Amino acid sequence: MNIPSYKPYVSEKEKTYVIDALERGQISGDGFYTERVVAFIEKSFKASKALMMTSGTHALELAVILADLGPDDEVIMPSFTFSSTANAVLLRGAKPVFIEVKADTLNIDPVDLERKITAKTKAIIPVHYAGVACDMDRLMTIAANHHLQVIEDAAQGVNAKYRGQYLGTIGDFGCYSFHGTKNYTCGEGGALLIHEKNTQIIEKAEISRQKGTNRSQFLRGDVHNYNWLDQGSSYSPSDLLMAVLLAQLEVMQEITEQRKAIYTLYRNAFEPYEKQGILKVMEIPPECESNYHIFWVMFDRQVIRDFVLAELKSRGVAASFHFLPLHSSPMGRKMGYQPSDLPVTEKSAQGLLRLPLYAGMTEGEYHYVIKTTEAVIGGL
Ligand SMILES: *Cc1c(COP(=O)(O)O)cnc(C)c1O
Repeated sequence: MNIPSYKPYVSEKEKTYVIDALERGQISGDGFYTERVVAFIEKSFKASKALMMTSGTHALELAVILADLGPDDEVIMPSFTFSSTANAVLLRGAKPVFIEVKADTLNIDPVDLERKITAKTKAIIPVHYAGVACDMDRLMTIAANHHLQVIEDAAQGVNAKYRGQYLGTIGDFGCYSFHGTKNYTCGEGGALLIHEKNTQIIEKAEISRQKGTNRSQFLRGDVHNYNWLDQGSSYSPSDLLMAVLLAQLEVMQEITEQRKAIYTLYRNAFEPYEKQGILKVMEIPPECESNYHIFWVMFDRQVIRDFVLAELKSRGVAASFHFLPLHSSPMGRKMGYQPSDLPVTEKSAQGLLRLPLYAGMTEGEYHYVIKTTEAVIGGL
C-alpha cells in the first residue's frame, strides 16, 4: 500500500463551479467567485476585511508592506517556520529576528519573545503551527506593552480558533494559505485579513494588491476609471481558482471532521507508546480549537526519528518532517546565526515526525499507517 503525506480533497462542486466560471467568461481576478469566497470568509471567520491573494506568501508580503516595515526595523518570528515568513520581511529591507518555540506546541515562546525585543522591534509574526493557536493572550499583551504590530501567519490555521476567536482575526493582520498541502485548497492561493482597527489602510491594501491602481474601486463602481496611484504588485487570484476554493470552503466542516477523526485515532493509538517513553504525541491545549492540519509525534533523538521515517517510507507510508529551522539554514547562517543559538527549535526539528493526514483517507489507509507505525516503533 502507498500512502501519500497529503492529498487534496475533492467534493462534487469544484468541477461545476470551474465550468461555470469558464462559461461566465470572466476568469481574471475579483470576479463572481472571488466575491463569494470573500463573503464566505468574512462571515464564517468573523473577519472585518478579507482580500484574496495569489498565495499565503503574498499575503505575508502585503501585510509587511501595510505594516510599513522597512530598513532598521526588526521583526520577531519563530525560526521554526516556512521561509516565506522571513522572506516577506527581508524583501522590504527589514530584519527578521528568529526566536525559540515552546517544546509542547512548537509555537513561538513568549518568554524568549520578551527577551529578544529591542528598541528597533516593530512587529511580531506568530506562526500557528499545525493549526494550533499560539498563546495569543500573552502575545497580544506583550505586543501592546511594546507597541508592536502583530501579523499572524495563519497559513496553517484557517478555520481554527483560540478562545473562540478565529485565527487570523486576532492580530493586526492575518495571513491564510490555500496551497495544495493545506486543509482547504485551490492549489495556490491565500487571503489577507485586516483587523477592524486598521480600516484606514484598506484602500492602500486594495491599491497595493492591484498593481498600484484603484481598480478595486473601479470594479465596485465607485470611480469611472482607474489609474496608477502608488507602488503595488499583482496579487489577485484568478476567478477559476476562487471557484475551486468556494467549493472547498462549502465542505470545510466535513473536511475538518474527517481530519479530526483520523487525528483522534492516531492519538489513541500512539498514547500508550508515550507512556513507555518511546515518543511524545502532540497535544492541543484546551483553549485551542484545531483544524487538525498536522499530526506529529516527537522522538528524543534524530537517529531514531530518521530510522522510523526510513522504515515507514520503505513500507509505503509517506511520513515526513519539517521545518528545517530558518536560523540554521544556509541563509540563516549567512545572517549570522549558529544552530546552537536556538536549542529547543533545533532539537524539536530533529525529533519531529508527521504522519499522513488528509480528508478522504480510507479506513484501510489509516489503519495501515497505524499498524505499520506500531510495528516499527514496537521494535525500537
Ligand atoms: C504554507 C505556509 C506558508 C506559505 O503559504 P503559500 O500559500 O504556500 O505561499 C507560509 N507560512 C507557513 C507557516 C506555511 O505553512
